[in-house]
Amino acid sequence: MSATAPIDSSLTDDAESLTASDVLTRMVERFHPRLFLACSFQQEESVLIDLLLRIEPNARIFTLDTGVLFPETYETWRTMEARYETEFEPWSGISLEQQAAEHGAALWEREPDACCAIRKVTPLREALSQVDAWIVGVRRDQAPTRANTPKIDWDAKHGIWKAAPLADWSERDVWRYIHQHDLPYNPLHDRGYASIGCTHCTVPAADRSGRWAGNGKVECGLHG
Ligand code: SF4
Repeated sequence: MSATAPIDSSLTDDAESLTASDVLTRMVERFHPRLFLACSFQQEESVLIDLLLRIEPNARIFTLDTGVLFPETYETWRTMEARYETEFEPWSGISLEQQAAEHGAALWEREPDACCAIRKVTPLREALSQVDAWIVGVRRDQAPTRANTPKIDWDAKHGIWKAAPLADWSERDVWRYIHQHDLPYNPLHDRGYASIGCTHCTVPAADRSGRWAGNGKVECGLHG
Protein backbone atom coordinates (compact mmCIF):
# COMPACT_ATOMS: atom_id res chain seq x y z
CA MET A 1 0.00 0.00 0.00
CA SER A 2 1.23 3.51 -0.78
CA ALA A 3 2.42 5.69 2.10
CA THR A 4 0.92 8.73 0.37
CA ALA A 5 -1.88 10.10 2.53
CA PRO A 6 -5.18 9.20 0.86
CA ILE A 7 -8.30 11.32 1.31
CA ASP A 8 -11.25 9.38 2.71
CA SER A 9 -13.76 11.72 4.28
CA SER A 10 -16.18 8.87 4.98
CA LEU A 11 -13.60 7.52 7.43
CA THR A 12 -12.33 10.66 9.05
CA ASP A 13 -14.69 13.64 8.69
CA ASP A 14 -16.89 13.07 11.73
CA ALA A 15 -14.51 10.76 13.59
CA GLU A 16 -13.99 13.17 16.47
CA SER A 17 -17.69 13.03 17.36
CA LEU A 18 -17.81 9.21 17.42
CA THR A 19 -17.84 7.10 20.57
CA ALA A 20 -15.17 4.46 21.01
CA SER A 21 -17.63 1.75 19.93
CA ASP A 22 -18.61 3.77 16.88
CA VAL A 23 -14.98 4.16 15.86
CA LEU A 24 -14.42 0.42 16.24
CA THR A 25 -17.57 -0.41 14.29
CA ARG A 26 -16.45 1.83 11.46
CA MET A 27 -13.02 0.23 11.37
CA VAL A 28 -14.44 -3.31 11.46
CA GLU A 29 -16.97 -2.60 8.70
CA ARG A 30 -14.32 -1.06 6.51
CA PHE A 31 -11.26 -3.21 7.16
CA HIS A 32 -11.88 -6.54 8.95
CA PRO A 33 -10.14 -9.02 8.55
CA ARG A 34 -7.32 -6.81 7.33
CA LEU A 35 -7.47 -4.99 10.66
CA PHE A 36 -5.30 -5.48 13.76
CA LEU A 37 -5.79 -4.35 17.34
CA ALA A 38 -2.39 -3.82 18.94
CA CYS A 39 -2.33 -5.21 22.47
CA SER A 40 0.45 -4.52 24.98
CA PHE A 41 -1.70 -5.54 27.96
CA GLN A 42 -2.19 -2.03 29.31
CA GLN A 43 -5.49 -1.07 30.91
CA GLU A 44 -6.61 0.59 27.67
CA GLU A 45 -6.36 -2.68 25.79
CA SER A 46 -8.57 -4.41 28.36
CA VAL A 47 -11.28 -1.96 27.30
CA LEU A 48 -10.58 -2.08 23.56
CA ILE A 49 -10.52 -5.87 23.41
CA ASP A 50 -13.87 -6.06 25.16
CA LEU A 51 -15.47 -3.42 22.95
CA LEU A 52 -14.00 -4.82 19.73
CA LEU A 53 -14.93 -8.46 20.34
CA ARG A 54 -18.52 -7.45 21.12
CA ILE A 55 -18.63 -5.98 17.62
CA GLU A 56 -16.64 -8.67 15.81
CA PRO A 57 -15.84 -11.88 17.74
CA ASN A 58 -13.26 -12.86 15.12
CA ALA A 59 -11.42 -9.55 15.21
CA ARG A 60 -7.65 -9.95 15.04
CA ILE A 61 -5.50 -8.95 18.00
CA PHE A 62 -1.73 -9.00 17.94
CA THR A 63 0.98 -8.43 20.52
CA LEU A 64 4.67 -7.69 20.25
CA ASP A 65 6.34 -10.35 22.35
CA THR A 66 9.74 -8.87 23.14
CA GLY A 67 10.69 -11.97 25.13
CA VAL A 68 11.22 -9.80 28.22
CA LEU A 69 7.68 -9.02 29.25
CA PHE A 70 6.68 -9.38 32.89
CA PRO A 71 5.35 -12.79 34.04
CA GLU A 72 2.17 -10.93 35.02
CA THR A 73 1.82 -9.70 31.45
CA TYR A 74 2.12 -13.23 30.04
CA GLU A 75 -0.45 -14.37 32.60
CA THR A 76 -2.82 -11.55 31.59
CA TRP A 77 -2.36 -12.66 27.97
CA ARG A 78 -3.47 -16.22 28.83
CA THR A 79 -6.37 -14.95 30.95
CA MET A 80 -7.71 -12.76 28.16
CA GLU A 81 -7.47 -15.50 25.56
CA ALA A 82 -9.41 -17.84 27.86
CA ARG A 83 -12.10 -15.29 28.65
CA TYR A 84 -12.76 -14.39 25.03
CA GLU A 85 -12.04 -17.84 23.58
CA THR A 86 -9.63 -16.41 21.06
CA GLU A 87 -5.91 -16.42 20.33
CA PHE A 88 -3.81 -13.32 19.99
CA GLU A 89 -1.20 -13.26 17.25
CA PRO A 90 2.36 -12.87 18.63
CA TRP A 91 5.03 -11.05 16.63
CA SER A 92 8.66 -11.10 17.70
CA GLY A 93 12.07 -9.88 16.64
CA ILE A 94 15.22 -11.96 16.66
CA SER A 95 15.86 -14.15 19.70
CA LEU A 96 17.49 -12.68 22.79
CA GLU A 97 20.44 -15.00 22.18
CA GLN A 98 20.89 -13.74 18.62
CA GLN A 99 20.62 -10.14 19.78
CA ALA A 100 23.30 -10.71 22.42
CA ALA A 101 25.57 -12.41 19.87
CA GLU A 102 25.19 -9.59 17.34
CA HIS A 103 25.01 -6.55 19.63
CA GLY A 104 26.39 -7.64 22.99
CA ALA A 105 24.68 -8.36 26.28
CA ALA A 106 22.03 -6.09 27.78
CA LEU A 107 21.59 -3.87 24.72
CA TRP A 108 18.62 -2.26 26.51
CA GLU A 109 21.03 -0.75 29.06
CA ARG A 110 23.42 0.69 26.49
CA GLU A 111 21.25 1.50 23.46
CA PRO A 112 17.53 1.26 24.27
CA ASP A 113 16.56 2.81 20.94
CA ALA A 114 18.45 0.06 19.10
CA CYS A 115 16.91 -2.60 21.32
CA CYS A 116 13.39 -1.22 20.74
CA ALA A 117 14.09 -1.12 17.01
CA ILE A 118 14.96 -4.82 17.01
CA ARG A 119 12.38 -6.10 19.48
CA LYS A 120 9.43 -3.77 18.78
CA VAL A 121 9.69 -1.53 15.73
CA THR A 122 10.80 -4.18 13.23
CA PRO A 123 8.23 -6.83 14.23
CA LEU A 124 5.54 -4.14 14.33
CA ARG A 125 6.38 -3.16 10.77
CA GLU A 126 6.19 -6.79 9.72
CA ALA A 127 2.82 -7.27 11.47
CA LEU A 128 1.32 -4.14 9.98
CA SER A 129 2.41 -5.14 6.49
CA GLN A 130 -0.33 -7.81 6.75
CA VAL A 131 -3.22 -5.36 7.21
CA ASP A 132 -4.76 -2.13 5.95
CA ALA A 133 -5.52 -0.57 9.34
CA TRP A 134 -4.71 -0.88 13.04
CA ILE A 135 -6.25 0.10 16.34
CA VAL A 136 -4.23 1.41 19.30
CA GLY A 137 -4.93 2.27 22.92
CA VAL A 138 -3.32 5.72 22.83
CA ARG A 139 -5.05 8.42 24.91
CA ARG A 140 -4.34 12.11 24.58
CA ASP A 141 -3.69 12.73 28.26
CA GLN A 142 -1.03 9.99 28.55
CA ALA A 143 1.82 12.23 27.41
CA PRO A 144 2.46 15.56 25.66
CA THR A 145 3.59 13.58 22.60
CA ARG A 146 0.05 12.11 22.38
CA ALA A 147 -1.99 15.28 23.01
CA ASN A 148 -3.11 15.72 19.41
CA THR A 149 -3.91 12.10 18.60
CA PRO A 150 -6.84 11.90 16.12
CA LYS A 151 -9.45 9.17 16.51
CA ILE A 152 -8.92 8.01 12.92
CA ASP A 153 -6.02 9.11 10.76
CA TRP A 154 -3.67 8.00 8.02
CA ASP A 155 -0.50 6.48 9.50
CA ALA A 156 2.10 7.67 7.03
CA LYS A 157 4.87 5.80 8.83
CA HIS A 158 3.27 2.43 8.10
CA GLY A 159 1.15 3.33 5.07
CA ILE A 160 -2.14 2.17 6.62
CA TRP A 161 -5.06 3.69 8.56
CA LYS A 162 -4.84 4.01 12.34
CA ALA A 163 -7.59 4.41 14.93
CA ALA A 164 -7.31 5.51 18.55
CA PRO A 165 -10.89 4.98 19.80
CA LEU A 166 -9.99 5.97 23.39
CA ALA A 167 -8.21 9.16 22.38
CA ASP A 168 -10.57 11.35 24.43
CA TRP A 169 -10.98 8.96 27.37
CA SER A 170 -9.43 9.78 30.74
CA GLU A 171 -7.71 7.17 32.87
CA ARG A 172 -10.76 7.31 35.15
CA ASP A 173 -13.02 6.47 32.18
CA VAL A 174 -10.86 3.44 31.43
CA TRP A 175 -10.98 2.08 34.96
CA ARG A 176 -14.70 2.75 35.26
CA TYR A 177 -15.32 0.60 32.18
CA ILE A 178 -12.99 -2.15 33.42
CA HIS A 179 -14.73 -2.39 36.78
CA GLN A 180 -18.26 -2.05 35.38
CA HIS A 181 -17.64 -5.02 33.11
CA ASP A 182 -15.36 -6.97 35.46
CA LEU A 183 -12.65 -7.18 32.81
CA PRO A 184 -9.29 -8.89 33.22
CA TYR A 185 -6.38 -6.47 33.48
CA ASN A 186 -2.67 -6.58 34.15
CA PRO A 187 -2.22 -6.88 37.94
CA LEU A 188 0.91 -4.73 37.76
CA HIS A 189 -1.42 -1.73 37.54
CA ASP A 190 -2.41 -2.47 41.16
CA ARG A 191 1.27 -2.40 42.15
CA GLY A 192 1.97 1.12 40.98
CA TYR A 193 2.72 0.61 37.29
CA ALA A 194 0.62 3.05 35.25
CA SER A 195 2.37 2.01 32.04
CA ILE A 196 3.82 -1.46 31.48
CA GLY A 197 6.53 -2.44 29.04
CA CYS A 198 9.53 -4.77 29.24
CA THR A 199 10.95 -5.92 32.58
CA HIS A 200 14.30 -4.21 31.96
CA CYS A 201 12.83 -0.80 31.17
CA THR A 202 9.77 -0.36 33.38
CA VAL A 203 9.60 0.76 37.00
CA PRO A 204 6.50 1.65 39.03
CA ALA A 205 5.27 5.19 38.32
CA ALA A 206 2.00 7.09 38.19
CA ASP A 207 2.42 7.83 34.48
CA ARG A 208 4.61 6.93 31.50
CA SER A 209 7.68 8.30 33.33
CA GLY A 210 8.13 4.73 34.57
CA ARG A 211 9.20 3.68 31.08
CA TRP A 212 12.97 4.03 30.43
CA ALA A 213 13.14 6.07 33.65
CA GLY A 214 16.21 8.28 33.88
CA ASN A 215 17.50 8.12 30.31
CA GLY A 216 15.25 10.64 28.52
CA LYS A 217 13.56 8.09 26.23
CA VAL A 218 9.75 8.50 26.22
CA GLU A 219 8.42 6.39 23.32
CA CYS A 220 9.26 3.00 21.78
CA GLY A 221 9.09 4.40 18.27
CA LEU A 222 5.79 2.63 17.61
CA HIS A 223 3.53 5.68 17.41
CA GLY A 224 5.88 8.50 16.39
S1 SF4 B 1 11.52 -1.55 26.20
FE1 SF4 B 1 13.65 -2.04 26.80
S2 SF4 B 1 13.92 -4.30 26.66
FE2 SF4 B 1 11.98 -3.70 25.60
S3 SF4 B 1 12.57 -3.54 23.47
FE3 SF4 B 1 12.74 -1.45 24.32
S4 SF4 B 1 14.86 -1.23 25.12
FE4 SF4 B 1 14.48 -3.43 24.68
